[in-house]
Amino acid sequence: MEQAEIRHNWTHEQVKALFDMPFNDLLFKAASIHRQHFNPNEVQISTLLSIKTGACPEDCKYCPQSGHYKTDLERERLMEVEKVVEQARAAKSKGATRFCMGAAWSDPKDRDMPYIERMVREVKELGLETCMTLGKLDNDKAKQLRGAGLDYYNHNLDTSPEYYEQIITTRTYQDRLDTLDHVRDAGMKVCSGGIIGMGEQASDRYGLLIQLANLPKQPESVPINMLVKVKGTPLENVDDLDQFEFIRTIAVARIMMPKSYVRLSAGRTAMNEQMQSMCFFAGANSIFYGDKLLTTDNPEADADMNLIRKLGMRPEQAQDYSDEAYEASLSSAIADKKTSELFYEAT
Ligand code: SF4
Repeated sequence: MEQAEIRHNWTHEQVKALFDMPFNDLLFKAASIHRQHFNPNEVQISTLLSIKTGACPEDCKYCPQSGHYKTDLERERLMEVEKVVEQARAAKSKGATRFCMGAAWSDPKDRDMPYIERMVREVKELGLETCMTLGKLDNDKAKQLRGAGLDYYNHNLDTSPEYYEQIITTRTYQDRLDTLDHVRDAGMKVCSGGIIGMGEQASDRYGLLIQLANLPKQPESVPINMLVKVKGTPLENVDDLDQFEFIRTIAVARIMMPKSYVRLSAGRTAMNEQMQSMCFFAGANSIFYGDKLLTTDNPEADADMNLIRKLGMRPEQAQDYSDEAYEASLSSAIADKKTSELFYEAT
């Protein structure tokens, strides 16, 4: 079997050659590499709570949370620490091991830091791993967050450097790369991916994956989002991407980043079960679970668990593989939809 190799020198021609492979050959190659590092029948499940929603000063053209566009989104101020901890406790009681918190900010301000650090510390004290997505980070803030105990930081590159200015003008690609450096230097794990189906060319999809794979250390987690076209955003009428192209992107991401978790993120609502299953075969091994993915629809939580069960897969955190333990983990995840509505499923 072909051995997976972690490389940081991918070229455009090499990535194009992967995308151009016959579909079955590409999926076979990706699935073979996936099995070298992961159990192909396990899926890691993440949950994200929006701790501050909307009114973001950035102008990301896909995002209903941007204050530049008029969408139906309801804005919410920074959530109180106690409420966040309450939600984290509820998530833990349902078997969550990692709790992600997202704020629609350009960057966290000095005045926010004491609250944010307290959130991290108190969520961590519950015995949960912590993850945040708060926008741009400088060196000092990255160190502060790490000092408070933050384990993971999410910051997406979104698209290729060439297409980037068509999508965001309020911060640069280099700003994003710098944030990832600061996160890594501070000792946190990196979650970074992008969005496809934003009207970009195939070469932009290659470019995004090349940027991610050629980072000095590949991100531990790579969310691949399919654009969700939200009314009121500039991308609301962009042409649909061929779904096979999405599956190919997952497969190529798996081949280029063999040890990273490749996450199916926003856009799953538009994918039927068969398509999601093909993505799992192509090497996706993480999903966001629950009723919402930030501010866009996400497949119903129990539909997710039913699909996982139908495929003979299981949530990664279920270490006890007895039938009883499996059923217990499924029912605890499915139970109490009321609480799951409070969660937005992650980036
Ligand atoms: S993607 Fe993030 S930074 Fe961009 S507008 Fe939305 S919330 Fe703000």
